[in-house]
Amino acid sequence: MNILEKSRNVWERVYAVSYAQSLLEWDSETYMPEGAAKERGEVSAVLASIIQEEVLSQKVRSLLKEAEGGDDLYARGIARVLRRKLHYYDSLPPELIREMERVTNEAKVVWRNAKKKGDFKMFAPYLEKIVELSREKAEKLGYEGSPYNALLDLYEEGLTVDDVERMFSDLVPFLKRKVRELSGNWPSEHPLEEKEYDKEKMERLNHLVLDLLGFDRNYMRLDVSAHPFTVEMGLYDVRITTWYHGKDFRRSLMATVHEFGHALYERQVDPELRGTPVAGGVSLGIHESQSRFWENIIGRSRAFSDILAPLVREVLGIEVDGEELFRYLNIVRPSLIRVEADEVTYNLHIYLRFNIERSLIEGDLEVGEVPSVWNELMEELLGITPPDDSKGALQDIHWSIGSIGYFPTYSIGTLLAAQIKELIERDMGSLEDVIREKDFSRVREWLREKIHRWGSLYSPKELLSESLGITFSSEPFMRYIEEKYRW
Ligand code: MG
Repeated sequence: MNILEKSRNVWERVYAVSYAQSLLEWDSETYMPEGAAKERGEVSAVLASIIQEEVLSQKVRSLLKEAEGGDDLYARGIARVLRRKLHYYDSLPPELIREMERVTNEAKVVWRNAKKKGDFKMFAPYLEKIVELSREKAEKLGYEGSPYNALLDLYEEGLTVDDVERMFSDLVPFLKRKVRELSGNWPSEHPLEEKEYDKEKMERLNHLVLDLLGFDRNYMRLDVSAHPFTVEMGLYDVRITTWYHGKDFRRSLMATVHEFGHALYERQVDPELRGTPVAGGVSLGIHESQSRFWENIIGRSRAFSDILAPLVREVLGIEVDGEELFRYLNIVRPSLIRVEADEVTYNLHIYLRFNIERSLIEGDLEVGEVPSVWNELMEELLGITPPDDSKGALQDIHWSIGSIGYFPTYSIGTLLAAQIKELIERDMGSLEDVIREKDFSRVREWLREKIHRWGSLYSPKELLSESLGITFSSEPFMRYIEEKYRW
């Protein structure tokens, strides 16, 4: 039996429980009656502990040993992934994992109320506890340099504070300059933002656009949730969600296209890897590069606007041409809320969070100072100040669920999408032309070949060097912004 088959056998139970857990997660966010939340939470916790036990089992340890003895790509990939999983559970005492679980369960509820009231003080004691537990987690996991490195690595394998600093060093001054340049010269609002739409019609438009991109309904579905997301059960069942606000249709449309990018990645993993530890996307940053690629590089392109305009007129009954649609989809304005930020300002929001998280974990910042530092940085980076903490330090869910070290992956994905654009254009010429021909199968095939099929066989950095032949860089993104946002 080769190492792939062997690992599929050993991994069978982890795979099956993860499959069930993903389905429950999807259901919790879409169709579950609200009253079931507590019971569902208990069941989920049990499933999580079954996975932990399975990963720590003797048979997984011997599989790791065997994989470490091999030297082909499969053996190396399986060994790398298993080493990381075992290291995680071996290093973190079960009490620490349980304590984090307990604190974040409470913190989530407190955060929601604090956000409603714009009252950071309510949330502060919980964030203090979460920072403390995260620092303990970093100590247990081990790190070189900054303790924040241990947390970054949980979301983006091998990512360090130095990598993130390097990513932002030219980018931040460039973006600040770009925001100043564009103000007054580029649309900062559009009447379509206030235009109302009918939800059923919007749903039809979303489906038409997905059909165009290559959404395979035989293995994928689209539903509705409070926040759009993608979840894969296995290779043959990948689900996305979107949202409907009743106006400003780009929010629903772009969320749908974004999640399509995530879903396609999971769908195009080599079927040979199914059910093994190396099935599935390799990291959050690489995943986000796929969603950002479809959302921004394709979905917000001039050529795609021309394809969209007749659909918008026909389905939503909104009179708009390609040029107007392009402007509406690419409004640039400094805004307070990260999830609503445009391509030019988005990464500045991430830079702000990176600085705060890093200082908290390195012990240079007290939780009580977070709102004032937040507001100062907003003023410095974007020239605006939140009226209250609900539009400032309380806006994102991440800290309340203990996800510290997560934010930088959003920038990695956004920047990497522009690198991928340059690579694709090197191979097939102008992407605008490919889009105009509606030839998305060529793009899907390219992404499958270069990125998707590898699953987690390569680490994120290896994937870039071995399969794409590049190292991570913010230059292509700056070129892309420079080229696109000119008058
Ligand atoms: Mg995403």
